[in-house]
Amino acid sequence: MLRGLNMDRQLLISSLIDYAGRNHSSTEIVATDSSGLVHRTNWAEIRSRSMRLSSALLQQGIRPGDRVATIAWNDHRHLELYYSITGIGSVLHTINPRLREQQIAWILNHAEDQIVFIDPDFLPLAEAVATEALSVRQWVVLAEELPATSLENAVAYEDLIAGSNPLQEWPLLDEWSAATLCYTSGTTGNPKGVMQSHRSIVLQTWATCTGDGHDVNSSQSILLAVPMFHVNGWAIPFAAAMAGSKLVLPGPDLSPEALVQHINTENVTFSAGVPTIWLSVVQHLQDTDTDVPSLKRLAVGGSAAPRSLMDTLEDDYGVFVSHVWGMTEMTQGSAGRFTHRVQGLGREEQRRRQAMAGRELYGVELRLIDGDGQEVARDGATPGELLARGPWVAANYFNLEDDSTHLPAEDGPWLRTGDVATMDNEGYISIVDRAKDVIKSGGEWISSIELENAAVGAPGVVEAAAVGLPHDQWGERPLLLVVLESGRTLDRDEVLDAIRPHVASWWLPNDVVAVPEIPHTGTGKIDKKLLRDQFADFEWSQ
Ligand code: ADP
Repeated sequence: MLRGLNMDRQLLISSLIDYAGRNHSSTEIVATDSSGLVHRTNWAEIRSRSMRLSSALLQQGIRPGDRVATIAWNDHRHLELYYSITGIGSVLHTINPRLREQQIAWILNHAEDQIVFIDPDFLPLAEAVATEALSVRQWVVLAEELPATSLENAVAYEDLIAGSNPLQEWPLLDEWSAATLCYTSGTTGNPKGVMQSHRSIVLQTWATCTGDGHDVNSSQSILLAVPMFHVNGWAIPFAAAMAGSKLVLPGPDLSPEALVQHINTENVTFSAGVPTIWLSVVQHLQDTDTDVPSLKRLAVGGSAAPRSLMDTLEDDYGVFVSHVWGMTEMTQGSAGRFTHRVQGLGREEQRRRQAMAGRELYGVELRLIDGDGQEVARDGATPGELLARGPWVAANYFNLEDDSTHLPAEDGPWLRTGDVATMDNEGYISIVDRAKDVIKSGGEWISSIELENAAVGAPGVVEAAAVGLPHDQWGERPLLLVVLESGRTLDRDEVLDAIRPHVASWWLPNDVVAVPEIPHTGTGKIDKKLLRDQFADFEWSQ
């Protein structure tokens, strides 16, 4: 091999914050903490406080490879932790506070976290799990002063920062060093830990910044509506530094009122989050006759976004929805921007593409296989199991021996995503369902996602969930649950009539039930497992 003659510079997360601190020093970071206080800081300050915190971590004996956890909302302190923990080679382990206490204790032990940074809101949670969390030797409360607590070895974050001198420079790490650890929500079995390297984070961040990724750039003001404990906030806390964007961190309040207020006071141009959040934002905009003139683009993913959401956002508010697919194992896995060819198509054809879950993004190769492991045609019609591979796709899970989620192949390994999808010849994917949520009626598949998306187009339906329940004749049939606008009563036929034009007639739900709310998992997805349990004794009317 004739080696290329380039410099040997490692791809490190610390280079992102160095870049932002140097070139976008005064670009604002606006953060609301859990007490409701608004902090206005900037990239230079985030960098210098991160460097102070890094030296405090070193003083506490944290070494490269040690895991340091956060149980925190989206605010400036959490952002500092993103850079201070990774900057010295220790591993940022973001924990989802919405998991059950037992699961959190299990995760803390599995990860062997040494220090845990917690928001004051989560003190009761930390106190409840502390005796079980055997590896944890210090709790740091993200506050000015230490609140009253029964936790032993607890300190206030600001005391820790005030008492340490900043690092002079970041250590030079190997780019393959572990940087972040994030557990999947584990709806089946125990959660699995996805460990990303510095190299992987920098590469996926670059992809996020590209025009076909989330087009993150220095002219933007970004509202981070994805929790920073969900897949590293979809890499946006890193991308905002790489690009030097303004970043608005909303704290715990993700209500539509709060989000719309942030958008309008901070001139937010771009935001990202799961569909549920934007469905409630749209409802709020309509109810209050409010506009969001600065907002130009939204990245929506994490679960299927209904077509009606995109239509309303674009037609009534001028917001382009970039619909993407991804998972903890790779962060963003598809691209949401129209290609040149699709730009030239009529509106209806464009929207049809937009309702799909994006298309292949450089860096994450996608493939569909059938039950025999044979590759399925990219014809936009034949479903198969979706596989993925690429330099930032997880190759294994942290400390897990039995890994059945990877498929060894001659040109592999490939990650088995657990999603059933179709793909067309331009790489556009449509997620038919999660393999475990697909409704199996008479040996054929019904997509719960398509039923839900059609149902939210029905008058008065705010949210919908379709689940397969046992049926004597067909094995399983779909039950549709809907949340209605307040004051409305259910008109079953009206809902079914709205779905009818969009699906095959045998897909139509056998029954429709109005419910006050639909349960969501810790990452904002419809909790189908819980719904199937709740309606296990449901009796079909037909
Ligand atoms: P968890 O399983 O912990 O909730 P992930 O965020 O990793 O965490 O979930 C990834 C899954 O979310 C995907 O495998 C897929 O089923 C679903 N998903 C993500 N984006 C979309 C989308 N645009 N359309 C449909 N499903 C999606």
